[in-house]
Amino acid sequence: MFNLTLSELSQALSRGDFSSLELTQALLDRIQRLDTTYNSFITLSEEQALEQAKAADALRAAGKATALTGLPIAHKDLFCTQGIRTSCGSKMLDNFVSPYNATLVERLNQAGMVTLGKTNMDEFAMGSSNESSYYGSVKNPWDTDRVPGGSSGGSAAAVAARLVPATTGSDTGGSIRQPAALCGITGLKPTYGRISRYGMIAYASSFDQAGPMTRSAEDAALLLQAMAGEDPLDSTCSTQAVPDYSATLNDSLAGLRIGLPKEYFAEGTDPQILQRVREAISEFEKLGASVKEISLPNTQLSIPAYYILAPAEASSNLSRFDGVRYGHRCASPKDLEDLYKRTRAEGFGPEVKRRIMVGTYALSEGFYDAYYRKAQQIRRVIQQDFVAALNEVDVIMAPVTPCSAFRLGEKNSDPVSMYMEDIFTLSLNLAGLPGISIPCGFADHLPVGLQIIGNYFAEGKLLNVAHQYQQVTAWHTQAPANLSEG
Ligand code: GLN
Repeated sequence: MFNLTLSELSQALSRGDFSSLELTQALLDRIQRLDTTYNSFITLSEEQALEQAKAADALRAAGKATALTGLPIAHKDLFCTQGIRTSCGSKMLDNFVSPYNATLVERLNQAGMVTLGKTNMDEFAMGSSNESSYYGSVKNPWDTDRVPGGSSGGSAAAVAARLVPATTGSDTGGSIRQPAALCGITGLKPTYGRISRYGMIAYASSFDQAGPMTRSAEDAALLLQAMAGEDPLDSTCSTQAVPDYSATLNDSLAGLRIGLPKEYFAEGTDPQILQRVREAISEFEKLGASVKEISLPNTQLSIPAYYILAPAEASSNLSRFDGVRYGHRCASPKDLEDLYKRTRAEGFGPEVKRRIMVGTYALSEGFYDAYYRKAQQIRRVIQQDFVAALNEVDVIMAPVTPCSAFRLGEKNSDPVSMYMEDIFTLSLNLAGLPGISIPCGFADHLPVGLQIIGNYFAEGKLLNVAHQYQQVTAWHTQAPANLSEG
């Protein structure tokens, strides 16, 4: 039961192999038993989960089940969940229980899904290793001496360890795709604005996007279907109609034009990763696709531009955590300034403080033109490079990360080497484009991800391309060897 995908579980529930209540109880037991090793959950919501499961079973008995009714999920701990703590991986929100649900949580609840709990993450989604969490680092199920990636590290590790068949994540610079790659699962970052961000705690608002993390593209299609679409509560959410993602999964790839950006295949990336990605691309050629080299000439500017813009937005977004309205408050403040200072000094961890300082500096008078404006100009140029490339090809393929899962602590003392992790992912966030990471083999014993990038709102195409690959390969079905099956 633990190895089944959402689609398989949905069929098993329809056949009556087991009930949602049995499934939910079995997974909660498994999490309690195994997650002491992985630390992928911050909060388990047992009571609510069992209630939701009973309600789902009743709906099914009444013939009112949808494809998602009774299926388990866990949410990254930055999506507000009514009645269940939402910590954002921070001491600042350790005591925060939201009075409302994020729109995507609400939609998945409406579809009858069962929330098992909230997953661990880098503090305020800042990081690439899940080591900045106030709740401790997450261990990669493929090798527990290594990181799962970040910031959606708990969401990725929980799916890889078969603790839950699917999770939600958020991607500001790579936080869905990079941990998906490092943990050997499927992670989709949709087009900016495809999924409502209402109730998703903001990091960098012009980049943030939610998405599904699953064990197959087919499952990602199911979840995206329920999550995507217009939301009157989020004015940045697109009003564009949501197509039927499952309907196009089996479209033929004959004639598909794939672009390979030469800057993404250059030195500096683990040769085994490049080899796995090339092997994946030859599978697509067998499926009738053609391949050509393209160029994204400003790739090397994406990290410096992102690490000005994202901290600038973060410094502004995080000013709301001041000890006045909710979250952590320091003990017996002398006056208002003391309240702000000590609350923020105590509540935020070192990486969050670093970002707030960088962002505040970049936005301050005299530096704004030199840094912020310049970075915005670079952002536009990078976006135009993608638009030009996607006029010539249907999808772009590339690695997700320059190296596979690194050791816990390995990059902790060197923020810049940690930031380099995002080299292949964050330009999509600068451009607002969708991308998917799917497993395409191993470098030694560690999973490798293939990144497929598409045009705006081409999620259906990305899922189709990923699904066709998963029909002819079995990388996505591999589980870490020493997972306890019990
Ligand atoms: N690693 C990047 C950062 O720390 C991206 C994080 C994210 O996508 N949330 O900003």
